[in-house]
Amino acid sequence: MKYYVLFGPPGAGKGTFAKLLVENKGYYHISTGDLLRKEIAAGTELGLQAKDLIEHGNLVPDEVVCGMIRSEFASNPDVRGFLLDGFPRTVTQAEALDKMLAEIGASVDRVVSIHITDEVVRQRIKGRALVENRADDADDEIISTRIRNYHEKTEPVINYYKAQDKYVEVEADGTIPENYAKVEVLVD
Ligand code: ADP
Repeated sequence: MKYYVLFGPPGAGKGTFAKLLVENKGYYHISTGDLLRKEIAAGTELGLQAKDLIEHGNLVPDEVVCGMIRSEFASNPDVRGFLLDGFPRTVTQAEALDKMLAEIGASVDRVVSIHITDEVVRQRIKGRALVENRADDADDEIISTRIRNYHEKTEPVINYYKAQDKYVEVEADGTIPENYAKVEVLVD
């Protein structure tokens, strides 16, 4: 079983590339953002808890997302491998993932990091707000909070995986097909 992490700031294109990788390579895509939005839409207790945090651009507690990941692994035993999109987003989550995988004799194969500048993050998110109708995409202040949270809480994950020699970065400064090609060669 392969485990790939698609890493990068909000709006980097992780979801877009994950969908293409599912079509071309047959992996199972887990997006913690999508899972959380489903919980919100279904009005579950978890969804209610997450809604306010997400709409203000803050992260959902580590235990919550780790629990979702664990149950996704457990309910998909027969897939070729997993593409993790939007997880891990903190060093605590990265440590929890390593522990979860160690329990089943597995480990992260590679972290593919999609790099774009903060300025591009802003443009992309605002463009997406028009299409996807996400409350956390429409407001400048919330976008700033997300960018700040990314630098403070998520970027430290880079060194965590560099230390394990698993981190590879792609400069996503081209068209979608050009950027995707750079990502695809890094995934078996
Ligand atoms: P984006 O990558 O564009 O920020 P996502 O769909 O990945 O969008 O995430 C949307 C929101 O869901 C995040 O801003 C955060 O509030 C919450 N979220 C998603 N994944 C995680 C995670 N691994 N840990 C904590 N919060 C998360």
